[in-house]
Amino acid sequence: MSTQPPPSPRHVLEHTFGFADFRGPQEAVISTLMAGGDALVLMPTGGGKSLCYQIPALARPGCGVVISPLIALMQDQVESLRAAGVRAAFLNSALPLDEAQDIETQLLHGELDLLYLAPERLLQPRTLGLLQRIQLSLFAIDEAHCVSQWGHDFRADYLHLNCLHEQFPNVPRIALTATADQRTRGEIARRLDLESARHFVSSFDRPNIQYRIAQKNNPRRQLLRFLRDEQQGNAGIVYCLSRSKVENTADWLCQQGFAALPYHAGLPAETRAEHQRRFLREDGIIVVATIAFGMGIDKPDVRFVTHLDLPRSVEAYYQETGRAGRDGEPATALLLYGLEDVVKLGQMVAGSEGSEEHKRGERSRLNAMLGLCEITSCRRQALLRYFAEELPQPCGNCDTCLEPPETWDGTQAAAKLLSCVYRTGQRFGAAHVIDVLRGSNNEKIHRFDHHQLSTWGIGADLATAEWRGVVRQLVVRGYLEVDGAAFGALKLTEACRPLLRGEESIQLRKQPESVSRQERQPRPAAADISAEDQPLWEALRACRKRLADERGVPPYVVFHDATLREMVSARPRSETELLGITGVGDSKLARFGAPFLEVLQDFDAQPAD
Ligand code: ADP
Ligand code: ZN
Repeated sequence: MSTQPPPSPRHVLEHTFGFADFRGPQEAVISTLMAGGDALVLMPTGGGKSLCYQIPALARPGCGVVISPLIALMQDQVESLRAAGVRAAFLNSALPLDEAQDIETQLLHGELDLLYLAPERLLQPRTLGLLQRIQLSLFAIDEAHCVSQWGHDFRADYLHLNCLHEQFPNVPRIALTATADQRTRGEIARRLDLESARHFVSSFDRPNIQYRIAQKNNPRRQLLRFLRDEQQGNAGIVYCLSRSKVENTADWLCQQGFAALPYHAGLPAETRAEHQRRFLREDGIIVVATIAFGMGIDKPDVRFVTHLDLPRSVEAYYQETGRAGRDGEPATALLLYGLEDVVKLGQMVAGSEGSEEHKRGERSRLNAMLGLCEITSCRRQALLRYFAEELPQPCGNCDTCLEPPETWDGTQAAAKLLSCVYRTGQRFGAAHVIDVLRGSNNEKIHRFDHHQLSTWGIGADLATAEWRGVVRQLVVRGYLEVDGAAFGALKLTEACRPLLRGEESIQLRKQPESVSRQERQPRPAAADISAEDQPLWEALRACRKRLADERGVPPYVVFHDATLREMVSARPRSETELLGITGVGDSKLARFGAPFLEVLQDFDAQPAD
């Protein structure tokens, strides 16, 4: 056992983690804990919460105890820490008895700097007794929103964590969460006895995520183009609403040459575990999934999240897209949606069990999500406003900022549509109403005598796709309702009177005329490696994969993408130069430095053309 005084926080930052500077509030949080104070930290995913407790745990005497609800996450975190040379371990029910005993022994001998525990394990009298016997540097309560009984991640054990304050009054505590809302924050502070702690509230913006929402034309083609043009070889998640769509889409992507795996609650547990494992361990796997996938998956290098169906709410959208780019590197969230999504989700809400009030809530959440899809201003500003945060300027990194949508005066078209809905008796879905407007002669029109209506054929000037755009936007703005209980029949609302009377005008968003317009303007690839650097990038990734496989850990435990990217641009030639790269600390240099330098040298020797 060494008797040296612990290193300073900055020393740990540089030498253990290989980072040059603290980020955001990290330094202030760490100082608070170093001085023995408590902290409550609200930071978005990818903001850098872990260092807030890992560094003070290493820079204060004793062992830091981290309470985390997810066993899978613990294991990843501990592996990453060990690769960086930190004496870390976890105790949970998945661990064989003899290994658990080893760890307890190490703990009692002062041989651990960080110990990860599930809450139920911590609260066992035996564990608490063990902790009483040793020196503790801090308690970190990760995913602290699990104390909230209103949230979906509620864990009853978290309610008892206030005992830490009573039993260990001199050990500083830090609670961390990425959940933004005020009510949850208040609840965390109250239930964990952290009202007098210093609160650190960060912006919930995820600036590295590019938000894009596009209308569905030919979703498979759109997806394919996105993957081929921008995400070649990258890992990502494709969300679909139904299990069958998950399986069909995954099969189809495999046929197109992608490494795609399905994931939904209907698959056998072993298959799910295997697909999740491959997603974490292999490079460039695409998981096609229902919302059953994602919780507790802490893969930092997910480069894209695509939704092929509309999420139910803005909260769900933000949480699901938030799984992209946890490493802070550029990532893309692409949502494709269409009128059929609006109808389908409306029907699901109507058909779901639950009170009228519950359904009203669901509908209003759905409407907020649709509103986000249809806005013509910055998506990020709207998203953040939804979480009560103001972004002063448009972000410049969402589709509406990058390619401002054009608008047109849709007053007349809207009036035509609304009267056609009225004349057909508010009993028909969008497809039929549009057929009437465009003067179709199909069998259904004749069966209902709709070719006799005054609105038959008055909308031949707009294409079907354009009419669908009008319907969608009128639904989103509350002029029309989709009756989920009546097969998606369109109905007028009170709000449409002034429009029908000609007292109100309405600006609508133009449909992108054709797909080809977008084709001519390829967007910058999310993770930008130039064509000539591609071979080096691939070689570095292969080297990382080999080292990871040898150790049975995911590739990002060896180095994150950001580190490899910096190697590509800086081309370090010596150990000293390699140490200057973000994410390369002393221990990783010793372990992994030589093989990476070798790869870099190979490329140095070749002329660059
Ligand atoms: P969170 O837990 O808030 O989601 P993490 O702690 O996992 O975020 O950190 C997100 C990413 O940012 C990780 O890749 C981490 O290595 C990196 N990171 C954190 N702090 C710094 C820093 N000061 N400098 C450089 N990279 C950092
Ligand atoms: Zn924007």
